[in-house]
Amino acid sequence: AARCQVELIAPPLIVPQGARPEPEFNWAEFWKLLRPQLIALLTAVLLAFGAALLNIRIPLMLGELVNVVSRYTREHAGNYLQEVQGPALKLLCLYGAQGLLTCGYIVLLSRVGERVAGSMRKSLFFSLLRQDVAFFDAEKTGLLVNRLTSDVQEFKSSFKQVISQGLRSLTQTVGCFLSLYYISPKLTGLLLVVMPVLVGSGALIGSFLRKLSRRAQEQVARATGLADEALGNVRTVKAFAMESREMELYSAEVDKSSGQNEVLGVGIAVFQGLSNVVLNCIVLGTIFAGGSLMSSKELSAGELMSFLVASQTVQRSMANMSVLFGQVVRGLSAGGRVFEFMSLEPTIPLSGGFKLPVLRGEIHFKDVSFSYPTRPGHEVLRSFDLRIPHGKTVALVGQSGGGKSTVAALLERFYDPTEGAVQLDGVDIRILDPSWLRGEVIGFINQEPVLFGTTIIENIRFGRPDATDAEVHEAAIQANADSFIRSFPEGYNTMLGERGVTLSGGQKQRVAIARALLKDPKILILDEATSALDTESERAVQVALDRARSGRTVLVIAHRLSTISEADFIVVLSKGQVAEFGTHQDLLRRGGLYADLIRRQNQESQEAQ
Ligand code: ADP
Repeated sequence: AARCQVELIAPPLIVPQGARPEPEFNWAEFWKLLRPQLIALLTAVLLAFGAALLNIRIPLMLGELVNVVSRYTREHAGNYLQEVQGPALKLLCLYGAQGLLTCGYIVLLSRVGERVAGSMRKSLFFSLLRQDVAFFDAEKTGLLVNRLTSDVQEFKSSFKQVISQGLRSLTQTVGCFLSLYYISPKLTGLLLVVMPVLVGSGALIGSFLRKLSRRAQEQVARATGLADEALGNVRTVKAFAMESREMELYSAEVDKSSGQNEVLGVGIAVFQGLSNVVLNCIVLGTIFAGGSLMSSKELSAGELMSFLVASQTVQRSMANMSVLFGQVVRGLSAGGRVFEFMSLEPTIPLSGGFKLPVLRGEIHFKDVSFSYPTRPGHEVLRSFDLRIPHGKTVALVGQSGGGKSTVAALLERFYDPTEGAVQLDGVDIRILDPSWLRGEVIGFINQEPVLFGTTIIENIRFGRPDATDAEVHEAAIQANADSFIRSFPEGYNTMLGERGVTLSGGQKQRVAIARALLKDPKILILDEATSALDTESERAVQVALDRARSGRTVLVIAHRLSTISEADFIVVLSKGQVAEFGTHQDLLRRGGLYADLIRRQNQESQEAQ
């Protein structure tokens, strides 16, 4: 109960509008996800370190081998095979061990990466699902899905790269520099002057190319978005005969993206060509300088060979590190975006609180004032007071945008009132368990329903996952849906959605009614369809709804007035308040707003005929 008290005085969530700062990377949250993988990660790090150490040994041993060969070719003395066997075998073993270690750390690291990415996805998805409806008013779904997909992907690949390549490059740079110094301090000094300049300018050009590439990718995405929109709304495009216009728009975007990619191609070509020349020049320069050292007997042929290979390793490792630096920055910001919503606590919890032991189903909106968190200044309901006795049907009417759906959203506790309270059997719903309230007490029938891309039976079972097949069939019979469902060849197992059949509007509604009836709710909210059905489907739906209403407290959100005359009471909502309240006959007789609405609608339907 103490928790409920706190909730009652918790300020409403105000979601800031406009651009927001880049979220910070949450190390604590990351540590929580990484900890279960720690042993695998540490082993991977050890193996990668071992592989790097072996890599440092390779140039030195190659040098040894070359020395044997060159000695043999010079002196032609001794048994070549015998002499060469030792160093060659050692080198082979080194190659083998290096290969094994590399294989091991890649396997482990990809396991760690996948598992951490998996738990990031699961934990973010769960955290998103828990958020208030207000959260989703403020955030675009596409953006949220991006965080689950590309941001996690980006973070994962950065993480893996930094651990494997970063560790390797660092160890190799340091180690090979030491060997270089050990082989020839003079040559190393020379290299120290040249290398940073070259690697630095390479990194600069590289980052410029990556910027170009990102811009080109964004352009490709823009073209794809356009195609997606046009193909997704192909009926509208056709209805306005806009095919050629869409074609023009798409062509322009595609041309722009090809142009950008071509520029990128030229950039890459020049970069590749230049770096080939430079690298070869380094080799040439080293042989040139090393040759003169050799002639003064300061260096052997094998040492020159070792030096060449080691300096290549250093150069590759340094280039790698410069790429990695950018990757770290991008990985951290992608990770920051993933973690941003992971630790966000919703203002309205998913569960926890009281369940009423005996439920009558009386609803009281007690002086409720409300504005949407995304529009704090705009008051939708103002001291709205409405009592719905149990077992009665009340229809809410009023202008579109007048706040009817908002009343239903407050009853579902999708939002909390800014002032006043919504009561169920005299108890503020803020102290009740939301999952009980939504899952068991209230059935919501939206007549423009959303069905999921699975079988009909699973769609109905969404109302109560533990329902038996027989219970599902019974609900479908109640909803007047059983016979049309059975007329499909696969009956209840018919797939809906893109890969399955498309139901007519009236059929969808009846499936949605069955789904709501399955939980046998004490309270029903009917959000009436705004679009009209043909008379026959309308009748089938109406029969189902009349059956559903009996014995329940019902709040009908009437967007059209034709179906509400059977309601026990009618409430006219105007300026966020109850303007009129009474039976259909009462209100007609009174000649106020309701009579006006009815008159206007009759006129409209006559004009339409
Ligand atoms: P009705 O159901 O009577 O057509 P609504 O309850 O849908 O009216 O809307 C009432 C007012 O609240 C309208 O001005 C609408 O623009 C606004 N509104 C509805 N839903 C939201 C929302 N999720 N966020 C912000 N404003 C909303």
